[in-house]
Parts: sequence; C-alpha cells; structure tokens
Amino acid sequence: MSPAPSAPVKIARRGLMLVLSSPSGAGKSTIAGNLLRDDHSLEISVSVTTRAKRPSEIAGKHYHFISIPQFERMRDNGELLEWAEVHGNFYGTPREPVEKAMAEGRDMLFDIDWQGALQLQERMKADIVSIFVLPPSMTELQSRLHRRAEDTEEVIRTRLANSRAEIEHWREYDYVIVNDDLDEAFRNVNSIVNAERIRRDRRHGLFDFVRGLLEEEPVLPT
Ligand code: 5GP
Repeated sequence: MSPAPSAPVKIARRGLMLVLSSPSGAGKSTIAGNLLRDDHSLEISVSVTTRAKRPSEIAGKHYHFISIPQFERMRDNGELLEWAEVHGNFYGTPREPVEKAMAEGRDMLFDIDWQGALQLQERMKADIVSIFVLPPSMTELQSRLHRRAEDTEEVIRTRLANSRAEIEHWREYDYVIVNDDLDEAFRNVNSIVNAERIRRDRRHGLFDFVRGLLEEEPVLPT
C-alpha cells in the first residue's frame, strides 16, 4: 500500500516587493499585465498620478488620478511611500496598501521609475527585487511609442528624450532584461519571481520546518 499523500508544505515568508522599471515603451506594462494575469498571488500597487487619464485607462485600476493639490496633501501627510516627478507629472505609491500587504506576507508589483525604485531600495531594502527592462534598440522604442498611439506627438518626444536618462540607471537594478521577444522577457521575469520566492532569507518559516524535520522519528521498515 502506498503511503497516504501528505498535506502540501506551506512555509511562511515575507512578502516580495517586485519593482519593474524601464523607459516608456520598452514593454514593462505588458510584462506587468501578463504577470498579474498568470500569478494571482501578485498584486499591483496602484499609484496616484496628476497626469491626465489615457482613453484606455481605468481610474482605480491603472492609476488613481488626482489633482496637484490632492497629491501635495498626500505627500505632505506622509501617505506616499515614494514619489517622483516624471515627464512633468507627479506620481507616487500609496503607503497603506503596501504596508498591509507586506505585513500579511503578500507580494506586490511596482511599475515605477528609477527615482521611485531608489527610494524603495533605501527604505525597504530586504524586501525589494528590482528588474530593469531595456528596449532592443532606440528605433524600436520610438516605433513602439508611436504604435501605442495614445499620446500626442509632443508627449512622445518628451518621453523619448527622457528615456536616455532613465536607461542611465540600469546599474541600480538587481536584474536587467532586454525585451526583444516579449514571451522570453516574460519567462525571464517569471523565473526571477519564482527564484526570489524561495530564497532562504525570505522564508522565516524554514526554521520551524527544518526543526520539525529533524525531530521526526524515522519509520523503519518492519
Ligand atoms: P505613464 O505615464 O507612462 O503611465 O508612466 C510614466 C512613468 O512613471 C513610468 O516610468 C512609470 O513606471 C512611472 N511611475 C508610475 N507610477 C509611479 C509611481 O508611483 N512612482 C514613481 N516613482 N514612478 C511611477
């Protein structure tokens, strides 16, 4: 007779803060969308922004769209975990949902720029895993921005000009992915997330698990 299947082993661990950055148009949002579609234990941090909503965006899902005075109030009250001015608009990460997720051991995904990544790395170092997504070429970046067709020509020009400055920060990230093939880029991000989830130093439940293992009496064949 085969032994009864044992219950799945669940080892408690701290939540992961997965930071994805890239210049606009490098494919970060698509990768983030795929991750959230396939991995239900990952939750997106919905930022606040003062930029205008794009036609395809849903308030409360892609961003919380707020006014500049509202943003300043949140920032000055310490309600933002990090914030930055990007392409002439303000963006920030609401503090409360992140602290709640971390306390409950849930994983969060942050689609933020290098300035935000730096602030989170300084404040929550041990919990951060950061990934920078590079475009295969600047020409491809430009055509992706045009293909998206949601921004005006002027906005696209600003974003392209700013993309070089964003790329300069690639060294500040744990992982760097070149997105020349979306499926492969996505597979790579998945591998990173899976590996980071089983890191020894993130799994405080291992201590008790291993102690239990060692205390188990071996069942010797009779
Ligand atoms: P977009 O306007 O294209 O949605 O975003 C512009 C840039 O702002 C992107 O690089 C995006 O990652 C970044 N961003 C979005 N939300 C935040 C945030 O809360 N904090 C910071 N620092 N950057 C953000």
